[in-house]
Amino acid sequence: MKNLLALNWKMNKTPSEAQAWAEELKTQLTLGDAELAIMAPAINLQALSWFLKDSGVAIGGQDVSAHESGAYTGEISAAMLKDVGAKYAVVGHSERREYHGETDAVVATKAAQAQAGGLVPIVCVGEGLDVRERGEQVPYTLAQLRGSLAGVGADVVIAYEPVWAIGTGKTATAEDAEELAAAIRAELHTLYGEAAESIQILYGGSVKPDNIASICAKPNVNGALVGGASLKVADVVGMNDAL
Ligand code: 13P
Repeated sequence: MKNLLALNWKMNKTPSEAQAWAEELKTQLTLGDAELAIMAPAINLQALSWFLKDSGVAIGGQDVSAHESGAYTGEISAAMLKDVGAKYAVVGHSERREYHGETDAVVATKAAQAQAGGLVPIVCVGEGLDVRERGEQVPYTLAQLRGSLAGVGADVVIAYEPVWAIGTGKTATAEDAEELAAAIRAELHTLYGEAAESIQILYGGSVKPDNIASICAKPNVNGALVGGASLKVADVVGMNDAL
């Protein structure tokens, strides 16, 4: 299965900065075996769509509304993301769960809404430090996965992002990543049968050019969701080249 290098810019880069970044990327990137996708603030997607046209680089939203359309001030619908050229929408990132109170049920509704609008949801799950210290990361993450996929079809990407490894410089070992990726794959088999074999499972949490290859070499890890190291073109080219 192809690796997916998914960049999550979080709340970084203005549209002008996004444009400059995309122009720089195009001069330096040679797409290899991995797919590259940029999850940018929604206000940047139009510029990225234009400047990355015909580059083979995909774009996506960092969130999507749980509603199809209507009186939901401030929200962005799946149809809007699709229309601007997005392929993906991240749902259930730990920062949305923590700062916006998103429950598994909300995440599942958003993922289903993304699919209904023709997008592939990237559904994020992962345990906090307290859970990891109790050694309960597998049952905790699988329960979150089941809840976040209720009513969601098999055309998804899963991102395992242990919260304690996000933005902290603490990376899970490749073995930690594989432990959860294998458990997630088995759970996906229960939910979707054979289709589970074609679902990409990403690892996220302090991924950089020098650790991405060993993590993605694990049999059940099919790419990475990258925050901090997604902001500089040189790091993105380094990660792309390492895959
Ligand atoms: P960092 O790569 O900055 O640890 O962020 C990971 C993440 O949250 C990607 O969604």
